Amino acid sequence: YAKTRRKGSSAIFHEAMHTRVVDRMRVETDLRAALEKQEFELHYQPIIDLRTGRTRSFEALLRWRHPGRGLLAPEQFLAVAEETDLMRPIGLWVMEESCRQLAAWQLGGHGPQPSRLAVNLSVSEFWDPELIDNIAACLAAHRLTTGSLAVEITESVLLRDAAEARAVLDRLHALGCELHIDDFGTGFSSLEALLKLPIDALKIDNSFVAGLGHDPSSEQLVQTILRMGQDLDLDLIAEGIETEDQRQMLSGLGCDYGQGYLFSPPVPPEVAIMVVGHPASA
Ligand code: C2E
Ligand code: MG
Ligand code: MG
Ligand code: MG
Repeated sequence: YAKTRRKGSSAIFHEAMHTRVVDRMRVETDLRAALEKQEFELHYQPIIDLRTGRTRSFEALLRWRHPGRGLLAPEQFLAVAEETDLMRPIGLWVMEESCRQLAAWQLGGHGPQPSRLAVNLSVSEFWDPELIDNIAACLAAHRLTTGSLAVEITESVLLRDAAEARAVLDRLHALGCELHIDDFGTGFSSLEALLKLPIDALKIDNSFVAGLGHDPSSEQLVQTILRMGQDLDLDLIAEGIETEDQRQMLSGLGCDYGQGYLFSPPVPPEVAIMVVGHPASA
């Protein structure tokens, strides 16, 4: 019995593996076509001043308008891109489109327009030897001013080689880009090394914000991060704020900025301009 049972579960295992491999291949094939067919979009989520309710900047978040599967979020395709040679062209598109949109806003028509944008960089994008030249070219082509672009990288990106990372960060700074650490707190081991790097802001990960009010260890961690960030004169941005209680707690603990569904989900560019004009109630 045990033998047939084992055989059975291994058959199921192989079937599941097969499905996953086929899915992955399908995503890869579709992704290649998506670049040519221009199926990618950027949506923009406001980052809010928690005390005034005003918009400080936006984060650009990638979406894929798949012809058969609808609007896909990064978790449904970005890992496949990162494992293949597709992250590079997708990342180049994201940077170009972000700069184009930001420049259009900065020149923009009537009423307040977004003036600062944060763009996410994956591990392979950060370590691409041509990253700096590519960003410099985008900034120049669209005549973006110093301080209007921030890049978001996770701690794990920097872990690889702190000295080399610092060289890249210094060059990004020289271009006038801010450097924000994304999902901060999820890779705590690198803290000491991290704090020696030239960083402008920490983004406190969703998971800790979600724990506020009922998980003491999340609360403790948020307090520690905020205190440390304040000591180092960094901007602090909380991610994933969904409730008024969370906003108030964070603001009370000295967190100046935040983003989340409480204020706005990521929205297409034509909706983003309306968000700027209407401060979230604070
Ligand atoms: P991230 O940079 O940490 O982005 C924050 C994620 O939280 C976004 O997911 C956003 O839609 C989501 N979010 C916003 N408000 C809330 C909230 O109140 N509650 C909850 N639960 N979630 C909220 P999204 O757009 O699915 O992106 C996932 C990740 O994919 C991003 O995490 C980022 O690491 C990566 N990513 C997104 N766009 C790009 C891109 O253009 N390039 C690269 N390299 N990575 C990207
Ligand atoms: Mg981010
Ligand atoms: Mg994040
Ligand atoms: Mg995150």
